[in-house]
Amino acid sequence: MKEPQSGRRPLIAANWKMHLLRQDASGFCRTLRSLLPSSPNVELVIFPGFTLLPTVAQELVGSTVAWGGQDLHQEAKGAHTGDVSGEQLADIGCSWVLCGHSERRQNHRESDRLVGEKALSARRHGLQPLLCVGETSEERQSGRTFEVLDRQLEAALAHRPQPFVLAYEPVWAIGTGETATPALAQKAHEHLRMRLGETLGKAWADEVRILYGGSVKPGNAAELGAEKDIDGFLVGGASLDPASFSGIISNSGFG
Ligand code: PEP
Repeated sequence: MKEPQSGRRPLIAANWKMHLLRQDASGFCRTLRSLLPSSPNVELVIFPGFTLLPTVAQELVGSTVAWGGQDLHQEAKGAHTGDVSGEQLADIGCSWVLCGHSERRQNHRESDRLVGEKALSARRHGLQPLLCVGETSEERQSGRTFEVLDRQLEAALAHRPQPFVLAYEPVWAIGTGETATPALAQKAHEHLRMRLGETLGKAWADEVRILYGGSVKPGNAAELGAEKDIDGFLVGGASLDPASFSGIISNSGFG
């Protein structure tokens, strides 16, 4: 089992994206609860689609598993057809929200600045932002990985949305089956923690959890989880099945 780093409690989160219907969500939550130990050492969060939130909330209330929204609007309320506010997420019991997932950045042209505003709005409504950063394949190939991460990190933290959790998700590894090697992921996490130290102070940066996301599966969770600065995972495809999600939890080495 990996020794806990500083005070950082490992966290594993499921991003269901635009998958599953209410019946599937209900079955997933029941099976997951039956597979988990009564007090896992790992903090767990599910990010279902918005229509599934009431079902997930009903199934997970009283459990050790939390839930959150996959996105929120930066404003508290208003004429924003199709959007969801932080207040509405909190109203259904969410304690978390994803901000800046690469699919939002790419498909909805979310800018770095908007991601920072969303993180601020999350904190205003008592939600913990899970801030996603990561480079594209082209950015990596042209040697700009750290430059991109620095830019995204600086904008995401512009309003100091503490507390928050960071997820390093190289875009080229999301949903592709191509996972970052543990060494490569560790290098990016170490860099992010160093930058956090410069922005927020080392003592504080040592407490920030940085998750890795990008084709995590039960088979690669152990080697990734063993890296010093990897404090958990944000899981997409492999989180849709309770057996594979719980396989990631049990293989992760997080205890
Ligand atoms: C994600 O969507 O955040 C993700 C990491 O997806 P996958 O695990 O499918 O690569």
